[in-house]
Amino acid sequence: MNMETKPTTSCPLCGMTLQASGMLTTGGATAPVFQCDACTRTVELFGAKIDNVALTFCRDADGRAVDPADGSIIREAKPQGPRA
Ligand SMILES: [Zn+2]
Repeated sequence: MNMETKPTTSCPLCGMTLQASGMLTTGGATAPVFQCDACTRTVELFGAKIDNVALTFCRDADGRAVDPADGSIIREAKPQGPRA
């Protein structure tokens, strides 16, 4: 039996520990994709604005949070400490 453990990371914005919600395959490499439901953004899709889309990101080789939609780096918001 093979126990598969989902990779985890902390949200770059709120610091919450997240489990990978899926895997993304890019050029032969796979990277876990994370979603934080606590951090939502407004995105534009097909010319329409969509509110409350859960923050979705991957971690690159340097551990930076990357938006898989456009490859932009998501700036880490350094929280003061864990939120109650
Ligand atoms: Zn978050």
